Amino acid sequence: MYDVIVVGTRVAGSPLAMLLARQGHRVLAVDRASFPSDTPSTHYIHQAGLGFLKSWGLLDSVVDTGCPPIRHLNFTYTDIEIPGMADPSADGIDAVYCPRRTVLDKILVDAAGESGAEVIEGFTVTGLLREGDRVAGIRGRIGEGPEQEFRAKLVVGADGANSIVAKEVGAATYEGSPAACFIYYSYYEGVDWGMHHRTGFGEQQFASWPTNDGLALVAVMRKRDRFRDFRTDPDAGVQEIVDQIDPEIGARLRDTGKRVEPFRPMLYPDNYRRQSFGPGWALVGDAGYHKDPFTGWGITDAFKYGQLLADLVHESLTGARPFEETLPEYQRERDAQSASTYELTQSISELTLTPYYDSVFRAASRSEHYSKKFFGLIAGLYPPDKFFGEAELTALYEEVNFPVVDRHVVNTGVSA
Ligand SMILES: Cc1cc2nc3c(=O)[nH]c(=O)nc-3n(C[C@H](O)[C@H](O)[C@H](O)COP(=O)(O)OP(=O)(O)OC[C@H]3O[C@@H](n4cnc5c(N)ncnc54)[C@H](O)[C@@H]3O)c2cc1C
Repeated sequence: MYDVIVVGTRVAGSPLAMLLARQGHRVLAVDRASFPSDTPSTHYIHQAGLGFLKSWGLLDSVVDTGCPPIRHLNFTYTDIEIPGMADPSADGIDAVYCPRRTVLDKILVDAAGESGAEVIEGFTVTGLLREGDRVAGIRGRIGEGPEQEFRAKLVVGADGANSIVAKEVGAATYEGSPAACFIYYSYYEGVDWGMHHRTGFGEQQFASWPTNDGLALVAVMRKRDRFRDFRTDPDAGVQEIVDQIDPEIGARLRDTGKRVEPFRPMLYPDNYRRQSFGPGWALVGDAGYHKDPFTGWGITDAFKYGQLLADLVHESLTGARPFEETLPEYQRERDAQSASTYELTQSISELTLTPYYDSVFRAASRSEHYSKKFFGLIAGLYPPDKFFGEAELTALYEEVNFPVVDRHVVNTGVSA
């Protein structure tokens, strides 16, 4: 009998398993993948996310893989340019790192195992065990091997957007909205141009950053209705988007860039929150809350709310408070703390800014210290309620002599 079984051992599951095992709890973590293993995801980690890796003693392992630090960000939205970087975080993190998921996830799985969690790789969960209305464990198998069962006081689904745990318990979604875009990304040699996150005119985006092995990730996004056309010649499509967004970078891509891995195409899954707890079960990471990857918050949020869940589950496992109290608190806190990130992500990942966001970003781009705050916001270091708060925005608009735009004004110019 385990205290906790965690299904899925990537950026949500492994930290949870690690943190609970470090507290002395008996943890089993299983994943159908064997690590190192890639997954369809780019890998930008905000300073706030790196702060968790640091506090867990794992940031040095990431840095030691040779993943280059990034200390200057080029953010563009149509003709609004905001270059810069957030001030270092409270724990001194002055750079962003974007490690390949093959690298990052392996570090996390190993850390879970080294902390005392039992880890079974290559194990596919096929169903849940029940006692009355309570989830009591998992069943599954390694490859074609015999079916095995494991029991626990709590089963946590950290098994991504298509979570089997969520399906089995019938977890309902709420606050959902359809995904806007598709992505194509791959890895390139010969493009040493730093970090770019550029949304151009024509509802298209180009993002790039250095990662492990001297390679740069290059990603492009467009609205989903243009997916079919794009698929006929993705190399030409990538070149066209980069040329249209920044001709200088486009020329460098054409002249010196060489794609060295296959493209990863993907239609984004929808934005949603899922009911994330019930008798004997909980959900963490994308299994419980997913948003468009445009703002690169999936990994950081998986760390943040993995830590939150670990702290609360620890309280229940030590008898301080029952699961009936701690698990609802987990979901309530997660939803409250992620509300502004969720709203911002859904608003700006449409690849067209509302008049409100256009005016805030445009004004911020004209103020040096507000640009820094903008990157603090993006990095998870500057509170959104302060950044978008009336006092700060009024001061900003005054400083750059800009007309205030109400956040409820929509693109037609009519108040919502
Ligand atoms: C194209 C794209 C780009 C992205 N870019 C970024 C970015 O730059 N920065 C960022 O922070 N976020 C990004 N994200 C989001 C990020 O990838 C996710 O938020 C994050 O991977 C979620 O982690 P997770 O651990 O919850 O789930 P996952 O990473 O999906 O892992 C789930 C695990 O569960 C396992 N599993 C599933 N079912 C079973 C089963 N039945 N039995 C056993 N194991 C099972 C899977 O094998 C998998 O290993 C991106 C996402 C996409 C799609």
